[in-house]
Amino acid sequence: MSEIKSKFDLTGKVAIVTGSSKGIGRSIAQGLAEHGAKVIVSSRKQIAVDKVVEAFRAQGLEATGIACHIGDADQRKNLIEQTITAYGRLDILVNNAAINPYYGPLEAAGEEVFDKIMDVNVKAPWLLSNLAQPHMKQEGGSIINISSVEGVHPGFRLGLYSMTKAALIMLTKNQAKEWGKYGIRSNVVCPGLIKTKFSEALWTDEKTLGMYTNTLPLKRMAEPDEMAGLVMLLASDAGSYMTGGIYIADGGYLISG
Ligand code: NAP
Repeated sequence: MSEIKSKFDLTGKVAIVTGSSKGIGRSIAQGLAEHGAKVIVSSRKQIAVDKVVEAFRAQGLEATGIACHIGDADQRKNLIEQTITAYGRLDILVNNAAINPYYGPLEAAGEEVFDKIMDVNVKAPWLLSNLAQPHMKQEGGSIINISSVEGVHPGFRLGLYSMTKAALIMLTKNQAKEWGKYGIRSNVVCPGLIKTKFSEALWTDEKTLGMYTNTLPLKRMAEPDEMAGLVMLLASDAGSYMTGGIYIADGGYLISG
């Protein structure tokens, strides 16, 4: 029997993490690099990814920064092509970048907002995964889609976002079903409330935050690096029999109330 600890080792693997200039994506990218992977740090802004790469390299980690607005077809293609040029392979894709441009009731949202959020949160991970798939077909690979508890349980005034995160869960299950034969696994992570820029409207106001955290079994929101460990499991051979799964890390939100 092989040593269990070594199954988390990602030496020789190449990973792309979209939206990794900050927040959850940055922590995931750091974790993958610390486990030995060569990591592509990506977000819309080259200057933002370059800063992260510089910080990683200062820690002795291997990383390259490639800017990519995931909603742009040419930039998606470039991200995959540049990754192959830089490292010659692709083993792990973390579809982490997402947007939430609208907070309010369903009936008040405009069609253009719907199109934009679907484009970035659903269409982009679908198409980026399709571009990654041919490079994973030979030796297998792991796709990890970052959804949300909103994808399984409707929150308050987050209807459109919630719909996109539910679609991402179904994308994951279909990727797992169709691509398992190539050794490609696909899993989805559903975070609860994490302290990042993305969610700052929910935690900058103490009263709002208190109302939320009081209902949680763990009585607090999470730091971004509390999502990374789960991704290490799903990305590595430690999770070699895991595919099509929905993994929730929410401080107990879904069992509260
Ligand atoms: P964050 O701290 O705001 O970071 C978002 C990242 O995505 C940044 O690196 C941003 O960098 C990049 N980004 C934004 N739009 C992009 C685009 N169109 N193309 C490429 N990159 C883009 O957000 P986060 O909280 O870490 O969120 C990460 C994921 O977790 C998202 O899928 C989100 O839905 C999910 N999530 C978050 C929470 C939470 O409470 N925070 C809860 C559940 C799920 P640039 O500005 O440089 O592009």
